Amino acid sequence: MIRNYIELAVEQMLDDVLKKYAEKNPDTCTCPRCRLDVMAIALNNLPTRYVVTDEGGIYTKVAMEQVGGRAEIIAAILNAIQIVKNNPRH
Ligand SMILES: [Zn+2]
Repeated sequence: MIRNYIELAVEQMLDDVLKKYAEKNPDTCTCPRCRLDVMAIALNNLPTRYVVTDEGGIYTKVAMEQVGGRAEIIAAILNAIQIVKNNPRH
């Protein structure tokens, strides 16, 4: 199957980044709606990188180490959290 591994990486890192941010900023909403909004905004601000993968899991870990884009992805997630926090859609 073909997957966007940036999307896989954001999925893997989102909860961790959001949890740490919410610990420092208790007024951050972490409901499913805001979480999805954060993910959509972060993905729109990141490049798209498609890979061919059988199951996704192992390949994604390898791909993430190769891309060296962890810092960029975390920065995009943090930026998206702030956008959603300032403009919650509920
Ligand atoms: Zn919310």
